[in-house]
Amino acid sequence: MKLSLIVPCFNEEENIKLFYDEVKKYFKHHIHQYEIIFINDGSQDKTYNELKRLYQKHSKEMTIIQFSRNFGKEAAILAGLRKSSGEYVTIIDADLQQSPRYVVEMVNFLEQHKEYDSVAAYQKSREERKIIIFFKNLFYKLMNKITEIEIYQSASDFRTFRRNVVETIEQLPERCRFSKGIFAWVGFNTYFMPYDVEQRVNGESKWSLMKLWTYALDGIAAFSTTPLILSSIIGIIITILAFMFMIYVAIETVVWKEKATGYSILITVILLLSGIQLFSIGILGHYLAKNYTESKQRPIYVVKECVDRKKEYDE
Ligand code: UDP
Ligand code: MG
Repeated sequence: MKLSLIVPCFNEEENIKLFYDEVKKYFKHHIHQYEIIFINDGSQDKTYNELKRLYQKHSKEMTIIQFSRNFGKEAAILAGLRKSSGEYVTIIDADLQQSPRYVVEMVNFLEQHKEYDSVAAYQKSREERKIIIFFKNLFYKLMNKITEIEIYQSASDFRTFRRNVVETIEQLPERCRFSKGIFAWVGFNTYFMPYDVEQRVNGESKWSLMKLWTYALDGIAAFSTTPLILSSIIGIIITILAFMFMIYVAIETVVWKEKATGYSILITVILLLSGIQLFSIGILGHYLAKNYTESKQRPIYVVKECVDRKKEYDE
């Protein structure tokens, strides 16, 4: 199998047929061997009927994975990756915002550039509200600062991978899957390809502000433990402040012979204790962070290739 297309669908009844036709249209003279894996992520409309109808005609190149309820796009992506068997694997939305013509470009690129392992499409210009763009940029800046991974700002999960990358992604056993982070974490050479995002033809986007916010928090929690140990840093700062204030009160009493007021003693004690408390919480956080990282059981490293002299001689 040359190519597997992974298509997560949630309430996309009007788009299924259109999507399939678009794929046919653009693949016609370019990609012949391919499979389309639709994941019906607990749609409440007639998406399943539409998929079944299509399957009756094109069962050879189609697979339907029917979820028992809505598990979210990340889960759908994983199910698709696990089912895929293509040499190349593409994740693409069902709503036609990501034209299949770019898939042809992505596959051609990987065919011609053996040094690259995946292609990620990024939006040339984002047609979103300014405030959303602002917060998205802020989020990626923060992510890149506090995590070990580098996430390319405008890159989407519209991507094509070689088989070895897919196998590595599948190896990550974590349950809270923040795909963009995972794609960055596994490494490999990724080419970032600009693309124009189309208008949604039918239906509406499933992203609300609240969902975006939860997604951002999930992303940070999945790849960074900095927030857990933040309190120890604040704790240290407050403790230092407390000591400085203490010295000030001591000088006031001893040198300037002023009687320390109850107020200043109280402030010193409060500062000192809250500093120590925050610091202790930070230490707890540190252990929790270690535990959290361990519990994810990610592979310790990923080998892309092993050049072994012994092997060469054997062959
Ligand atoms: N999707 C999904 N499960 C969900 C939400 C979305 O499988 O819980 C699918 C959806 O059907 C579409 C793709 O993920 O194919 C992208 O969703 P959407 O268009 O809402 O996202 P946007 O384009 O606005 O980022
Ligand atoms: Mg969309």
